[in-house]
Amino acid sequence: MRAVNASTVVDGNAIAGMLLDIFGADVTALFGTCAGCGSEACFAEAVVELDRQIAIVRCRSCTRTLFTVLHAQADPRLVIGALGAIRA
Ligand SMILES: [Zn+2]
Repeated sequence: MRAVNASTVVDGNAIAGMLLDIFGADVTALFGTCAGCGSEACFAEAVVELDRQIAIVRCRSCTRTLFTVLHAQADPRLVIGALGAIRA
């Protein structure tokens, strides 16, 4: 039996719609650099812990939180964590 607030581990493709709401474009193909370990990967490949309130986007290499999406409100927010850089 699952807890009400249990999170699901998915990849970055699962939050494409949330990121679209914030950026106005599909950004899952952009590359992000982890400020913790220097690893670079496209957002689609990130590890995402998703529940009904937030999506925690983690570096696949070192598991640091790159950014968090607060998607429960009418105006979703993105809180930057260890995301050091973004490139196309
Ligand atoms: Zn990292």
